[in-house]
Amino acid sequence: MLVVMQTDATQTDIDRVCGAIKEMGYQAVPMPGGQRTAIGLVGNDGRVDDSQISALPGVAQVIHVSKPYKQVSREWRPESTIVQIAPGVRVGGSDVVVIAGPCSVESEQQIVTAARAVRAAGATALRGGAFKPRSSPYAFQGLGKHGLELLALARRETGLPVVTEAMDEAGANLVAEYADCIQIGARNMQNYSLLKAVGRLNKPVLLKRGMAATINDLLLSAEYILAEGNGQVVLCERGVRSFDSAARNMFDLNAIPIVHKLSHLPIIADPSHGTGLREKVTPMARAAVAAGADGVIVEVHPNPDRALSDGAQSLFPDQFAKLVNELRLIARAIDRAVAPSPGTAPIEVG
Ligand code: PEP
Ligand code: MN
Repeated sequence: MLVVMQTDATQTDIDRVCGAIKEMGYQAVPMPGGQRTAIGLVGNDGRVDDSQISALPGVAQVIHVSKPYKQVSREWRPESTIVQIAPGVRVGGSDVVVIAGPCSVESEQQIVTAARAVRAAGATALRGGAFKPRSSPYAFQGLGKHGLELLALARRETGLPVVTEAMDEAGANLVAEYADCIQIGARNMQNYSLLKAVGRLNKPVLLKRGMAATINDLLLSAEYILAEGNGQVVLCERGVRSFDSAARNMFDLNAIPIVHKLSHLPIIADPSHGTGLREKVTPMARAAVAAGADGVIVEVHPNPDRALSDGAQSLFPDQFAKLVNELRLIARAIDRAVAPSPGTAPIEVG
């Protein structure tokens, strides 16, 4: 439930509403806005009797959020959320972010070469897994803490903020020390204790859609993070399992406009995992930006044929550079722009 205060409501009116919500056994979250304050009632799983609240002085309107996710919904917050993953790097505004890098951090030389290449091509942030969720226990599991140190080195070398995955609660605390944005992978989208743990951290979170999760499931998972107090969540469409084996996953472009309608949180697209096939990554990245994605996350490797994970879907650096130029044109066509690399001026297109 959301209590919208009148524009001339006083602090005393606001405090009185918060007090009444607490007396009912719920949490009150005041959200001051440009025009007026709204107060969220958090913790109810059904319809709350609002008669006591709506009669209080200064209350303009009581809105019952109809969706099962509350704080994530557009009913709760009509204006789009902008998540800042580093100074000047914002996801969810008019800029389209381009996060790129290898699937896994493999060595100092590999990650620094990849970071320099994606930065030169115009990437906004660097990706690379240090903790890798692999289907087989015998596959490369990532370099762990050393991988995080190498990502920090690549950030120093290039100025690119770092997005990297955490697989468990202990890992989340460690990842938070090194990363600018913590990725929760598809396999952990419904790991509720991990979601609660990152909800208690003051770090942006990139939450990827589970491979058998509905959009409703994705938004409910995001609600876990917001419910713990962390509103800095970026959603990611990365494809779902389907009956068709022609591609690794079924890349669900519908999710982008659907999520934008249902939620104020930004959503980016991962055409690398969404397709699993290098030659399909570029067309689907273009399509995602055209569909309104707030960014893309793309796997790029200096030598994809030697990659320790996901080489078949990793772009060569020159393919990625070409893609960024194309994304600039597509973004401009829909009144957006590809975010400039940190510390560089916006690029004139056309
Ligand atoms: C990844 O980003 O490398 C990854 C493992 O992604 P997902 O969780 O979407 O499979
Ligand atoms: Mn990967």
